Amino acid sequence: MSDDFFAELEFEITAQTAKKVLKSDAVKLKRQALNTKLNAPARAKAAEEYKQIQSIVEANQWQVVRAAGLFTEQHCDGCGSVHYNFLQYMQEEHKIGGKSRRWVRTPLPVDGLAIETIIQPLTTHICSDCCSEHGLNVLTPTIRLMPVAGALTVSAAYIQGDINGAPEES
Ligand SMILES: [Zn+2]
Repeated sequence: MSDDFFAELEFEITAQTAKKVLKSDAVKLKRQALNTKLNAPARAKAAEEYKQIQSIVEANQWQVVRAAGLFTEQHCDGCGSVHYNFLQYMQEEHKIGGKSRRWVRTPLPVDGLAIETIIQPLTTHICSDCCSEHGLNVLTPTIRLMPVAGALTVSAAYIQGDINGAPEES
């Protein structure tokens, strides 16, 4: 792991910790502002500080506006087959009081939102329908399952050679 990675991680942990401290400070100040056993100036001071902290907390909150399931749509230019695979649930969030928007993955969609479908198009030259024509077999007795922790993903920069051309020399 690079120093940059740990610096980013530390920054994120610090930011998350700061948010939690702000939220707990806001709760304490709200209690003080509503505590009738305190004198009026102390309650007014707590109410003013609560408003300031609450505006900072609210500025860092996101509202979920859309839910979606992300699928890949794999087109095989070898045989023309199309395969769909579900990848993950996603949600679009808008920053409350701001203009920022973001898509993030989520374990489950928020209740009550219609679930849209997002399709990520992919192209392959050999799919599970035609792999046997190229000397590959999916689901044979010798299949090896790769542990999830070691899963590989296709690089966007990967370019496969011509599967119907002459073998490449190494
Ligand atoms: Zn195919």
